Amino acid sequence: MTGETGLSPVRSALTDMIPAFHIEERSEYLHMTHRFLPNESRQIGKTILNVIVLAFALAVLLSGFAAGRAAADEQNLPYADRYIDLHLHLDGAITLDIAKQLAALQGFTLPDAPDEELEKYLTVPDDCESLNDFLKCFELPGYLLQTPEGLREAVHLVADNIRNQGVLYAEIRFAPQFHTKSGMTQEEAVQAALEGLKETELKANLILCCMRGEGNEAQNEETLALAKKYLVEDGGVVAMDLAGAEALYPTENYRELFAKAKELGVPFTMHAGEASGPESVRLAIEYGASRIGHGVRIFEDPELIALVREKGIALEMCPTSNRQTHAVEDMADYPFMQFLEDGIRVTLNTDDMGIEGTTLAKEFRYMEETFALSPEQERIVLANAVDAAFTTDEVKDWLREQLGLPKGMVIELLEDTLPEAS
Ligand SMILES: [Zn+2]
Repeated sequence: MTGETGLSPVRSALTDMIPAFHIEERSEYLHMTHRFLPNESRQIGKTILNVIVLAFALAVLLSGFAAGRAAADEQNLPYADRYIDLHLHLDGAITLDIAKQLAALQGFTLPDAPDEELEKYLTVPDDCESLNDFLKCFELPGYLLQTPEGLREAVHLVADNIRNQGVLYAEIRFAPQFHTKSGMTQEEAVQAALEGLKETELKANLILCCMRGEGNEAQNEETLALAKKYLVEDGGVVAMDLAGAEALYPTENYRELFAKAKELGVPFTMHAGEASGPESVRLAIEYGASRIGHGVRIFEDPELIALVREKGIALEMCPTSNRQTHAVEDMADYPFMQFLEDGIRVTLNTDDMGIEGTTLAKEFRYMEETFALSPEQERIVLANAVDAAFTTDEVKDWLREQLGLPKGMVIELLEDTLPEAS
């Protein structure tokens, strides 16, 4: 890309600074496809049972809310401003401020330009229609995360940043195999990220991403081995993920990898049902995923919706990301509220908050304004996130206390009200 003509001075400076490999890598990683979803598949029946279940959940939550009002968080935020983020990519969470700090730490000089100009290379406009523009935003973060000190500090700064935004607990994910360009090993990358966790006061854990792709089987095996080696119940690596171009590299290619993860007792989530349809989610569940990244497209398959509900699978949904990457053609058809009403354990997350220019607060406000998500429903969404977190019961109890939620798993309470599955 260096030497292209007609580039802005900032773009030229960045392309000179950053090797061209990043854009290639990220096109594997990202999954943006413009696609049409059949409207007729949205005819999902809603049963009276679901209404009863939802009413029961609301009653449980509201009683817990009243009881929990006495709880005091050290930041003294109102309950409505406290969040949990289960789906947050480290490289996608690098804001300009964090990028500047990471550059200074590592002795890199960012192009001399006003912030608004630099922002364009980190954050896409909300109406971004170009995959290329979206992918370019990963170049600079990728470049800044190739040394142990860069990675450690990135985890620290991202965690501090979201803590300041009211996040009480987060699971930060990254692909160790993306951080080996300057000679760092995957294991050194994991160790650096773990060091970063120690430097923040945020309660947070790490998820290691394996990548969909070609010719990276050994790297994925290594990531799995590291997930197993560093696996803890809290305060470190707690799970594994599968990210990357879902439509190009189908979930069935990863059957063996995740069979091994299951055998080794490594919990996992998988990006599925975002760029590919219901079959991808069905396989992810069959392989043992307890959560699904996005899962938007399960609305095409009523039987799968029932399965996801029965198994208590949590969906890590990310509205701004889903809008920007066109996971649904028209956001009017975004199925979040339908899933919520169907009793599916939906959660709200940021995905790539730096690139998308979002925060969890913005995600919740967006859902309120666009889909009339009510305060009571927000409490269910947060309760779902607590239930689905890859952490200990002690941390979950602490989170429920901080959020003014009742003790115990909401979905289990719900299941008590359900008749035996036929
Ligand atoms: Zn993601």
